[in-house]
Amino acid sequence: MKLTAKRPRQAKKTKSVPKPALPFVQQRTPGRIEFIDRPVPHVYVSRDAYSRMYHLVDIAHEEVGWLGTVKMTRLGNFVIEEVFLLEQEVTSAQTELSTEGQAKLVQHLIETRSDGMDVANRLRFWGHSHVNMSTDPSYQDNRQMDELRDSGCPWFIRGILNKQGVMRFDIFFWDSGVKVIDAAWSIWDQIDDSMRAELETEFNDKVSRKVYPTHTVVSSWKGGPQPAHPGYTGEISGNRTGRIVVLDPTMMHAGETSSVG
Ligand SMILES: [Zn+2]
Repeated sequence: MKLTAKRPRQAKKTKSVPKPALPFVQQRTPGRIEFIDRPVPHVYVSRDAYSRMYHLVDIAHEEVGWLGTVKMTRLGNFVIEEVFLLEQEVTSAQTELSTEGQAKLVQHLIETRSDGMDVANRLRFWGHSHVNMSTDPSYQDNRQMDELRDSGCPWFIRGILNKQGVMRFDIFFWDSGVKVIDAAWSIWDQIDDSMRAELETEFNDKVSRKVYPTHTVVSSWKGGPQPAHPGYTGEISGNRTGRIVVLDPTMMHAGETSSVG
């Protein structure tokens, strides 16, 4: 065995520590907020609500407002499900969410729907149009949220939209005194199960497995459609009938401006 004396390694250069230590400074941007047990909540909008809000914004030449039902998902995101136009007097500069308008809506829901009371209790979204103005909230909009805070809901969503194609949601977490400004949003959609039986019949009529006469095909497959693997790990992966369809708002504008404008 040949032994060679290893040359002693040169000690790594260490960053010189100033002596004495430097005085402390802020590490990064001060006052950042994170949610402890989940990502920042996302707002999903049903296709129905999206379409209704689009048409209301398009029809109205002045500020107009509506209320909507909101469901909180098991991951702490929000789904705006239905929106309801309120009886109101509008001006070009502001919209007021009158207690009379709200009371009339609640009364109408209870009188016309078997789930009216439940729907009324889930009205946690206030949306309104700023016509062609910016979607930044006005002083009046912030005053309105102060009033809604007294309703006792732990959270509430405000939406401000305009004819320029901007839709902005702010989520107010009154319990913790925090609001998410301009929350990320996308369209919420679910698989339409009503077409399933028709498609299964059509599938069985039109689709068959090719048979090779010279070989024996061994297969456990007995024909007919098999339910697709739910492969989605998104928000509602636990619900096999539902999926999230995320529409990139910028793509939607590029593709649909000509057809809706
Ligand atoms: Zn406003």
